[in-house]
Amino acid sequence: MQVLISQAQIGERMRELARRIAGDYQGQPVTLLGILTGSLMFVADLVRLLDLPSRIGFMQASSYRGATTTPGKLELLAGLVPDVRDRHVLLLDDILDTGRTLNRAIEAVRELEPRSLRVSVLLRKVGRQEVALEPDYCGFEIPNVFVVGYGLDYNDEYRQLPYIAALDSLRDS
Ligand code: 5GP
Ligand code: MG
Repeated sequence: MQVLISQAQIGERMRELARRIAGDYQGQPVTLLGILTGSLMFVADLVRLLDLPSRIGFMQASSYRGATTTPGKLELLAGLVPDVRDRHVLLLDDILDTGRTLNRAIEAVRELEPRSLRVSVLLRKVGRQEVALEPDYCGFEIPNVFVVGYGLDYNDEYRQLPYIAALDSLRDS
C-alpha cells in the first residue's frame, strides 16, 4: 500500500509549522478555527505543539441542495465558533483543492470581525485552484489524487489513519 505522507513526515512538518506560527504571532493569543471534520487531527496536533496562548473552535461546511438555493451551494454552520471579535484567528482546513470551501469560510469569519485572519492548510493540491487564495501556512503540496487519512475521509471512512494515502492504493491492496 502506497503511503503518500508518513506519520513521521507529518509529525516533523507539524513541529516546523508550529515554530513558524509561534514566531509570527510573537506570544499573542490566537483562536484556532478548524473546518469540520477533516481538520480535526491537524488542529489537535498543531495546537499541542504551538507555544502560544490558544483557543479552539470549529465551523462546519455543508453543501445544501434545496429548491431555494443553488445546487451545491456551501453553507457554513457557525454554531461551534467561539467569540472571535477583535481576536487573532487562524483558520485551518484539511485540504485546499478548488478553494471554494476556504473562500466561503474566510468570508464568514471576516463577518465576525476578528483582529486578524490567517489561513493554514494541511494539504494543497497543485494545479487545482479555481479561486485566487494564498494560504499563510501549508503543510504539504500534493499531486491531483484523492487522498485519505489523518482526518481526511472517503464516505466517512479512513479518517483515523495516522498517515495520508491515495485512496486508489488502499483499494487495490
Ligand atoms: P475545495 O472547496 O477547495 O474544492 O475542496 C475542499 C474540500 O474538498 C476539502 O475540505 C475536502 O473536504 C474535500 N476534498 C478535496 N480533495 C480531497 C481529497 O483528495 N480527499 C478528501 N478526503 N477530501 C478532499
Ligand atoms: Mg473538508
